[in-house]
Amino acid sequence: MEDCLFCKIIKGEIPSTKIYEDEFVYAFADIAPQAPFHAVIVPKRHISATTEITAENSHYVAKIFEAAAKIAEENQLTNGFRVVNNCGEDGGQTVGHLHFHLLGGRLLAWPPG
Ligand code: AMP
Ligand code: ZN
Repeated sequence: MEDCLFCKIIKGEIPSTKIYEDEFVYAFADIAPQAPFHAVIVPKRHISATTEITAENSHYVAKIFEAAAKIAEENQLTNGFRVVNNCGEDGGQTVGHLHFHLLGGRLLAWPPG
């Protein structure tokens, strides 16, 4: 996807601070962190949103959650954390490449605003 911000980050065309990477997943520091620890975890294949997850590509979601567990352990988020996916306009999605926020390092309010 030529005009996708996160595809460009995955390709290294836009700089990012890498937190984790494997064959399926890339994770980087959010540019506007909402918690002391805030990673953005993305599939290395362009999937635009949760509405586009299918039986054919859903293994990427499993890989993202495997990565979330590793990232939490590697970054000592032993007191808990939150994994968030924003989908569409009402969900607050601003980048059209599926991504999961991993937030930790402080007590997070529930329900979110
Ligand atoms: P969302 O609002 O759920 O679509 O999340 C998009 C996230 O991407 C926001 O938290 C932004 O702060 C973050 N973001 C946007 N551009 C960059 C960038 N160049 N590097 C790192 N994070 C970014
Ligand atoms: Zn993309």
